[in-house]
Amino acid sequence: MTKHFAALLSLALFFFQSGLAPAQPPPPAHAPALHWPQFPVRVYVEAPDGTRDQRALIVLAGLDEWVDASHQKVCYLRTMDPKAADITVRFVVGKFLLADAPVIGETEVNWSGSTLKKASIRLAEGAGTMEDLQATAAHEFGHALGIQQHSSDQSDLMFPVEVLHDSQIGDPLPEEPPYVTAHDLRLLAAGYPQLLRP
Ligand SMILES: [Zn+2]
Repeated sequence: MTKHFAALLSLALFFFQSGLAPAQPPPPAHAPALHWPQFPVRVYVEAPDGTRDQRALIVLAGLDEWVDASHQKVCYLRTMDPKAADITVRFVVGKFLLADAPVIGETEVNWSGSTLKKASIRLAEGAGTMEDLQATAAHEFGHALGIQQHSSDQSDLMFPVEVLHDSQIGDPLPEEPPYVTAHDLRLLAAGYPQLLRP
C-alpha cells in the first residue's frame, strides 16, 4: 500500500493572524501503526555536489532528532546507493513542491501489513531557513518511520503546518523550530511497542 503525507508551509504572520487550520484532516483512528522490521534503517540523501551535501547533513540532523529522542533505539546508516536504501530523500528545485499549494515536504510510504517497505521523502530546496529545512525533514522522517497521525498541538514536530521564518522582516520570529516532543515520541512508539514502550 502507498500513502502520501505532505507538510504545508505558511508564513508565520499569516498563520497566527488567520488561525489557519491544519490543511489535512486527521487520519482515521484505525490507521495502522507502521514500523520498520529492524534498525538501523538505510537512508539515502541526494547529494550530488558540495553545496547540496551541506544540505544533506542538515536533513540528516532532522533524522538525528528522532535518534536522540529515542535514545538511539531508532538508528540509521547512510548509504550512497538509493537502490539500497529503505528511506530516500530527494530535493526539488523551487520554493514549493507544487505550483498551486505551499507544500515544502512530502513523504510517500509503502507498506505490507504493518511493516514498512520503502519511504520516499521530497523536500523543496528553496523554502525558508536551514532551521526550517531541518524541521521539515524531521517532520517527514516522522512519517517515514511510521507515524500516520498528525498532532493537533502546534508545539509538536508532527503538527502538520511548518512555519517559515520570515526573512523579509529581518529578525527571525521568536518561535523556535519544532523539535521532537514527548507526544511526538508517543506517536512513533505506537508502531514500536516493544522497542519504545509508549
Ligand atoms: Zn505530516
